[in-house]
Amino acid sequence: MGIPLLQMAQIGAYVARQQLMGRKRYPLVLMLEPLFRCNLACAGCGKIDYPDEILNQRLSLEDSLAAVDECGAPVVVIAGGEPLLHRDLPAIVEGAMAKGKYVTVCTNALLLEKNLDRYKPNRYFNWSIHLDGDAGMHDHSVCQDGVYERAVAAMKLAQKRGFRVTINCTLFNNADPDRVAAFFDEMKKQGIEGITVSPGYAYERAPDQQHFLNREKTKQLFRAIFSRGKNGKAWPFFQSMLFLDFLAGNRTYQCTPWGNPTRTVFGWQRPCYLLGEGYAPTFKALMEETDWDAYGTGRYEKCADCMVHCGFEASAVREAFQRPWEMLGILLKGFRTSGPMVPDLPLASQRPATYVFNQQVEEKLSELHHHKAARDHLSAAE
Ligand code: SF4
Ligand code: SF4
Repeated sequence: MGIPLLQMAQIGAYVARQQLMGRKRYPLVLMLEPLFRCNLACAGCGKIDYPDEILNQRLSLEDSLAAVDECGAPVVVIAGGEPLLHRDLPAIVEGAMAKGKYVTVCTNALLLEKNLDRYKPNRYFNWSIHLDGDAGMHDHSVCQDGVYERAVAAMKLAQKRGFRVTINCTLFNNADPDRVAAFFDEMKKQGIEGITVSPGYAYERAPDQQHFLNREKTKQLFRAIFSRGKNGKAWPFFQSMLFLDFLAGNRTYQCTPWGNPTRTVFGWQRPCYLLGEGYAPTFKALMEETDWDAYGTGRYEKCADCMVHCGFEASAVREAFQRPWEMLGILLKGFRTSGPMVPDLPLASQRPATYVFNQQVEEKLSELHHHKAARDHLSAAE
């Protein structure tokens, strides 16, 4: 199935309104991370390497829904950490849907079965199950045996209960195209509504730094996978066709980091979902005060190998809106998987990486200690 027509039409209408209003930068998807705590510790994950005091923080229901309003994007993706560990997640989901948003919850599904009764199927809501390939691939990726089996069982239960279910699959440089293609075939057979696939980002805080893909290998891998499935037409992708064509080396895009603005317990993350180079107190400050030209391919060393959906999907959606005929060839023939690739943006003048993680953690801890001291002082005075 891929993205339902109604969802595509509503997002298209939103993009049209932004273009008509002459907005140069506008959000498409709010990435809401109401917590960093997770019940897994995947080798390629750069989201959970925080001290307990930070892992114990939660964005409240009120702050989460305020972020939905502030941002205004038509789609809200709730990620983490593991969102199902947040006790107010059902209310966040319901609250965002009540505001007319399409809501996706990204989950490793280990707690799904236990929590499913707290949610109701809705065409505005889907579970996106984290599955990085078949049983062997996924269990290796999440560093725990048996996780694939449990996630697939929960996925089937959610489907049986009438939920919309998609999967999100992150690929690394050890991905075997034959196995990835067979896994996509299997997921299609299982009746999932869509597949979201992306190369992994080389998180500086990820324990495994050996298996991230570079740009060249990303393009070769995606061509090899697509060529095993009718040039990609065999599978119901839940993302922009032009973004997948970019992954296959057939398009050149600069990234659009403001397309997927990210709200975490630290604030609005600069510049994107993947990089935390600073935090803005409001969405307005994020959009107006970020030096966007300092980020992206060829501009910043940490962006050099990034071809991740949260940076480039919005670039593809913008092109799809401006040049819809570009999608016709893909719809008819699939993605081109042979012949020369288009040239990429040059990397020679990118500025070197700066490392600010430890400073941010120290600042957050000092803020938390300050708040605790103020609370203790108040209760002693009462
Ligand atoms: S990748 Fe997802 S499931 Fe794995 S540790 Fe990170 S947040 Fe948890
Ligand atoms: S290329 Fe864009 S999305 Fe990727 S890390 Fe850099 S700013 Fe973020």
